[in-house]
Amino acid sequence: MEKLALHGGQPVRSQMLQYGQQWINETDVEAVVKSLTSGYITQGPAIELFEKAVADYAGVKYAVAFSSGTAALHGACFAAGIGEGDEVITTPITFVASSNCVLYQGGKPVFADIDATTYNLCPHDTERKITEHTKAIVAVDFTGQPVQMERFRDLANRHGLIIIQDAAHSLGALYDGKKIGTLADMTMFSFHPLKHVTTAEGGMIVTDNEEFYQKLVLFRSHGITKDPELLNQNDGPWYYEMQALGYHYRMTDLQASLGTSQMNRLDEFVTRRREIAALYTEAFRDIPGIVVPYQLEKANSSWHLYVLRFDKKSYPVGRKELFNAYRAENIGVHVHYIPVYNQPYYQELGYAQGQCANAESYYEEALTLPLFPKMTDQDVQDVIDATKKIVGSFRKNPVSI
Ligand SMILES: *Cc1c(COP(=O)(O)O)cnc(C)c1O
Repeated sequence: MEKLALHGGQPVRSQMLQYGQQWINETDVEAVVKSLTSGYITQGPAIELFEKAVADYAGVKYAVAFSSGTAALHGACFAAGIGEGDEVITTPITFVASSNCVLYQGGKPVFADIDATTYNLCPHDTERKITEHTKAIVAVDFTGQPVQMERFRDLANRHGLIIIQDAAHSLGALYDGKKIGTLADMTMFSFHPLKHVTTAEGGMIVTDNEEFYQKLVLFRSHGITKDPELLNQNDGPWYYEMQALGYHYRMTDLQASLGTSQMNRLDEFVTRRREIAALYTEAFRDIPGIVVPYQLEKANSSWHLYVLRFDKKSYPVGRKELFNAYRAENIGVHVHYIPVYNQPYYQELGYAQGQCANAESYYEEALTLPLFPKMTDQDVQDVIDATKKIVGSFRKNPVSI
């Protein structure tokens, strides 16, 4: 058996492979440079062009760009009317922004457990958590696999709930043949460098609902409007009104220009992500004690993340040792995510430790492998080689593979 780098052996590669990375080309650079000297670097026409590019791609009427995906989620909670006393159900296996947006509005995030196979919010447990105070669901398409939206839609219809889809991982994915963006009342995309397309920082809400759209536009810019049709009075051409307590959450034209240019490459990016995920699954599906990502029949993931689960009985060394072994081989694995309710801030708010059993056992066994479109075939092979080396060394009763 080959000696692990962790134990002093030769690492599979000489340089660290990050788990994710943006891909900026010359065309992207030119688009930003052109924007710099166009006369508008913010509050100009590039914003609407980017919004239209994303709205057209997603097949929806309206899109509102924000300074980040987190700001966009905050806007969605505002538009949904979340306030004090309102409960919003979400998953614990997500980035903290998915539930923080509820706190920003004075609402109460309620965590329902994940499904043990898809790792997405479990519709059944969500139903159990619904009370008379529940107002919305923040459904996160974890790793890029869409949630079972027909199940959440059914709950929403029966209980009068608003569905906000956190699609930070799933731009370009399909569910039951339908594009992400058309399924929920409001859908959020993030343009952080690790996501499918980037604006450095940025986010967007897409919706078919005009009322939500108006509220999002207001919220993004201090709650101020100059639209003559929305004003209560009109003192003259200078006149504007602040009609709600909004924030300054605008994206710049430089970012939007980068975003529009990146959107032209989205399909190419998603194709490559799917290709790499298929190579991983092919290489790992038959390794005992490893669980490759389970995909629903109706889901066509856009593969933001590729998560392997190492069964504790087969790999008693535990996830931390596996993590360290990968890193020693210069494979930049990661862990997504620490259950949100276990975070110190949530603990102080009184959330019980370990409240979602599936989320807890998932967290103990999960590792995210590198996955981004710019990865070369050699990079992919390095990840496969390192995995085989590590499982061969750590599996209980190791056998050669
Ligand atoms: C990236 C991400 C967000 C938003 O992140 P920003 O960095 O604010 O754009 C929200 N939810 C999830 C699940 C994410 O991965």
